[in-house]
Amino acid sequence: MAKMKAAIFKETNKPLEVTEIDKPVIEEDEDVIVKVVACGLCHTDLGYIDYGVPTFKKPPLVLGHEPSGIVEEIGSKVTNVKVGDRVLIGPITCGNCFYCRNGRENICQSMMMIGNNLDGAFAEYVKVPARCLVKLPEELPLKESCVISDAVVSPYHAVKRRAKVGLGDWVAVFGCGGVGINCVQWANLAGGLVIAVDIMDHKLQLAKELGAVAIVNAKKVENVPKEVRKISGGGVDIAMECIGNPDVITQAFDATRDGGKVCVVGYSFKSPPLKAARLMYREMEITGSIAGLVSDYERIFNLIKTGKFRVDRLITSRYPLDKINEAFDELRKGEAIRIIVEME
Ligand SMILES: [Zn+2]
Ligand SMILES: [Zn+2]
Repeated sequence: MAKMKAAIFKETNKPLEVTEIDKPVIEEDEDVIVKVVACGLCHTDLGYIDYGVPTFKKPPLVLGHEPSGIVEEIGSKVTNVKVGDRVLIGPITCGNCFYCRNGRENICQSMMMIGNNLDGAFAEYVKVPARCLVKLPEELPLKESCVISDAVVSPYHAVKRRAKVGLGDWVAVFGCGGVGINCVQWANLAGGLVIAVDIMDHKLQLAKELGAVAIVNAKKVENVPKEVRKISGGGVDIAMECIGNPDVITQAFDATRDGGKVCVVGYSFKSPPLKAARLMYREMEITGSIAGLVSDYERIFNLIKTGKFRVDRLITSRYPLDKINEAFDELRKGEAIRIIVEME
């Protein structure tokens, strides 16, 4: 059996084990083997590695859900891609449930994700069903575009479909990491007046460069919601929480004007205390946002191709697969925007 190098997640609080395992083989007619070129590191991975968030497939498991690659081999019934195509891997949806049929496949009842329900892309090869593949336009760089399928698509969905940012809306983005920084970019492109909130100056500087009209360093002000309300003249129309911290969700709620909306983009396993009376009396809205729609990729590619949306500013470090544990150490420090592992 052919072998490949992969980083294996075996148990919580242990480093990933970089080793040789069997290279996946086509089993179903609709399987595709993708040769991974690069894969982004995500805080979701740290949830599994550091915090014991359970994965659907029990370890040992190959993590990594943000890859780009080249189609290496296809099953006999695959028609949407051919060998040699440059691809991104989106979520694996069923196409048949209530949500899929109502255009909301991102909350598919049988949603599967590589690096969680099945082996992911911190490996030389990954096997997926053909339907989740998206062809990458020639104009976009293969390696750097790996971050699109999660860190770019999810914020696009959040800004456009969930937060519904409009011209002149005040938008506070809490957390300017890999996802938050792109909420800043998309909200700015959608015509929002963005206030970026973070605790790191270099992230806030990048937020400014990518369109924020104001920045707040949460470590340097006494009361973050008050500061945001001051800048926006009474509270933002929309607050986007991109960290996944219950206290920050509460801050976002407090920074939002009456009748405004909080969009929760960050994943938290704890619940925030919420002022239910204000929710009702002041007609507050709270909405969640997860992943995105495959139908949005074409528009996203066009916005990148035309230079309106910047992916080139997102990747702050690159590691070979052998050094993936060092890459996660850097992610833990919280200073990076997006870190990728490169397979060659
Ligand atoms: Zn992710
Ligand atoms: Zn479905």
